[in-house]
Amino acid sequence: MAPNTTERTYIMVKPDGVDRGLVGEILSRFEKRGFKLIAAKLALPSKEHLEEHYADLKERPFFPGLIRYMLGGPVFCMVFEGLDAVKTGRAMLGATNPLASAPGTIRGDFALATGRNICHGSDSVENAEKEIALWFPEGTLQYKLSQAAVIYE
Ligand code: UDP
Ligand code: MG
Repeated sequence: MAPNTTERTYIMVKPDGVDRGLVGEILSRFEKRGFKLIAAKLALPSKEHLEEHYADLKERPFFPGLIRYMLGGPVFCMVFEGLDAVKTGRAMLGATNPLASAPGTIRGDFALATGRNICHGSDSVENAEKEIALWFPEGTLQYKLSQAAVIYE
């Protein structure tokens, strides 16, 4: 079977990552890895929008603090496409607790606290598609990346 090079994942720089000037660094890591950027924007989501994004966590004790944290400033929203984008994106982010993230991962290089872990990445293909629909109702772009010919076999 031909490898699926069109899997999509939703990656978001959280307010602390934006404030710390890490948007370019995080975007750049995905670009350099070979993923195709198919949507991007800076956004100031509402409380309701964030509660929808994190709906699976609403019973957790940290939920109110998580929503307050995410309301602290703009977030930078991105969709990347490529081979195994969801799982590879998670590996590039590192563990939820930055102290458990290996150096070389985004959280392992730039964060220390679970509640200030600077970035979000979809955890399954199904959730990625839900998140992309929530954050980019306008849709993502289709275009040809010339470097795809040298990134894939
Ligand atoms: N979070 C937290 N305390 C916890 C667990 C999670 O503040 O004990 C925050 C953290 O910012 C995390 C987010 O809630 O990134 C979403 O949690 P999830 O378990 O989905 O982790 P992720 O998928 O972001 O690694
Ligand atoms: Mg999650």
